[in-house]
Amino acid sequence: MPDRPSVVVNARAVARLRGGHPWIYRSDVVSAEGAGPGAAVEVKSERRRLLGTAFYSTASEIALRMLSPDKVEDIGALVRERVRRAVEYRRGIVRDTDAYRVVFSEADELPGLIVDRYNDVLVLEALTQATDAAEVKDAAVAELVAEFAPHGIAERAEPRIRQLEELPLLKDALLHGDKTETVFTMNGVRFHHRALAGQKTGAFLDQRENYAAAAACAHGDALDVFCYQGGFALHLARVCSRVTGIDSSRSALEQAEANAALNPGLPEIEWIEANAFDLLKDYAAAGRQYDTIVLDPPAFARSRRALQTALRGYKELNLRALKMLRPGGILVTCSCSYHVAEAEFVEMLASASCDAHRSVRILEKRGQSKDHPVVLTIPETSYLKCVIAAVSH
Ligand code: SAH
Repeated sequence: MPDRPSVVVNARAVARLRGGHPWIYRSDVVSAEGAGPGAAVEVKSERRRLLGTAFYSTASEIALRMLSPDKVEDIGALVRERVRRAVEYRRGIVRDTDAYRVVFSEADELPGLIVDRYNDVLVLEALTQATDAAEVKDAAVAELVAEFAPHGIAERAEPRIRQLEELPLLKDALLHGDKTETVFTMNGVRFHHRALAGQKTGAFLDQRENYAAAAACAHGDALDVFCYQGGFALHLARVCSRVTGIDSSRSALEQAEANAALNPGLPEIEWIEANAFDLLKDYAAAGRQYDTIVLDPPAFARSRRALQTALRGYKELNLRALKMLRPGGILVTCSCSYHVAEAEFVEMLASASCDAHRSVRILEKRGQSKDHPVVLTIPETSYLKCVIAAVSH
């Protein structure tokens, strides 16, 4: 058994662990002697009772992320086993796609590790000192190769996150194979994927099931606001007579157009580069009307402090959209801000419907796709809200 450094934590941390949450904040660490950046450590109570094994960070406010309630002999073997289990879990729940999240960090008991699959190309992101270490990354890659035999595994690195973890800046690069571009299919719609370009790890896989749900009730003239590379727009185009996509990013729209070309037989989609707030205002003033509107803005609340400002932003968008929907119209409205709870989001929508003098019925309250599992005892694993509503008059 390797001799691991011990980190002693206070009673508050013990209670947190007992509640099923894997994080221990630095303020609850009593001593961490000899624990280096990213080390696997033994976590102990003040009475020196073993609480389990965790990844330690010298930089983050989240000092410890629990891995196991036991001692762990071989971290690499544990990582491989957890990746294998994550893959197995997806085999049971993922349908109609060759693109999905394979490993979702804490929700797969692999804190700090994200892996997405796009057909034959995988994208890995290490978010912490521990998962950035070769022992963990190499083990994950080895297991992913064994499971998928991918033609490429690319590593993506978000500079802001690496900075927070005091990790050296890293260039996005291949960890395995030589393929960085591919085509993937979700719900029968095809998309290009370029592993070393674009936001996040590529597409918004967390919305995949919501695309299908939106398409199931969309009709007529549709507007996809914050369309990025066309996730909603392309799904809507299969059932709507006209589709317009709006985004402020030219490169996202170019990719959206290329994605549309991959799907023959769709009606032409108009892609508009604009600030959504300004454009919706202009369209509303010009009396434009739609039968389906999708709102999927970037996270407005990056912290709980930003909540009120975020809610005002959501309300403005939803108010404008509600005013522009024809009777019988469908609103698909999303928020990916963890700090905006579902109840607050629905309350915002109710307030917007009153101000717009529209009667709104909720058809579905949805969240992220099942390959982004929500763990009951870890609220942070649940972040996406997607409400599908019908406007009656
Ligand atoms: N609906 C997309 C994901 C949207 S992500 C999908 O399912 O794939 C949010 C998008 O909002 C990004 O593409 C970003 O470029 C765009 N964006 C951010 N601020 C904007 C603004 N003020 N006006 C228009 N688009 C904006």
